[in-house]
Amino acid sequence: ATEVSRPDRPRVLTVANQKGGVGKTTTTVNIAAALAAKGLRVLVVDIDPQGNASTALGIPHHAEVPSIYDVLVEDRSLDSVLQECPDVPGLWCAPATIDLAGAEIELVSLVARESRLARAVQQLMSDRAGEDRFDYVLIDCPPSLGLLTVNAFVAATEVFIPIQCEYYALEGLSQLLRNVDLIRKHLNPALSVSTILLTMYDARTRLSAQVADEVRSHFPDQVLKARIPRSVRISEAPSHAQTVMTYDPTSSGALSYLEAATELARRA
Ligand code: ADP
Ligand code: MG
Repeated sequence: ATEVSRPDRPRVLTVANQKGGVGKTTTTVNIAAALAAKGLRVLVVDIDPQGNASTALGIPHHAEVPSIYDVLVEDRSLDSVLQECPDVPGLWCAPATIDLAGAEIELVSLVARESRLARAVQQLMSDRAGEDRFDYVLIDCPPSLGLLTVNAFVAATEVFIPIQCEYYALEGLSQLLRNVDLIRKHLNPALSVSTILLTMYDARTRLSAQVADEVRSHFPDQVLKARIPRSVRISEAPSHAQTVMTYDPTSSGALSYLEAATELARRA
């Protein structure tokens, strides 16, 4: 296997795209599992009330489980809600429970409403025990640009955008980029779009190739060379509470996510 080294400082990436169903969650959990398979220590923060990332990682997230809701709204420490993924050593998750659906509204009246996640992440990283604890933090966002996503943008230094190789793929992208600019200007000067991954690529269609070309011409430095094929194995894995990395490690889906993760790690 190709070696990757630990980044000098922990990297915090927000996986975002305000369109739903473009592969944010699938990308978050599989990139995370691929990085962990390379021996890196990875934390997935699930801030989508649907909790799909938690499900896909096999992490219990019923209403009683301490979760990212408690961190954002109740000032609980991030450390105290972490659970290790049963199938992937070195991969941890801060789960989302259904409570999080109310957080978007509850946050509005709280102090420092935009930077609650950032604070929790910084605290985790600066704990004596937390020092050196994670190499990568990946935040799985809901499909909207509300306060939950704003919290993710403020907590991260990198935005990672999965783009589905379909018609309308670029629709909404300029709005996302404008929002990243606004966050950079007002709340988090360190933020930039570092990585774009083409997903659900269908090698048989001209459309996939056209979308890929168009995205590469707009973002030559951000688009990873690896692209993720449309694959049944990838879409089946979550129903087994697994990532495709453990569900079918030799499938084209698993191999392409490994390739993408290696590229991401090398760009540190
Ligand atoms: P988002 O988090 O952006 O809403 P998901 O990651 O949940 O998107 O993906 C949406 C749907 O597409 C899910 O059912 C998922 O299993 C499926 N999917 C994602 N990536 C692929 C892929 N490469 N091949 C086939 N199905 C995929
Ligand atoms: Mg999702």
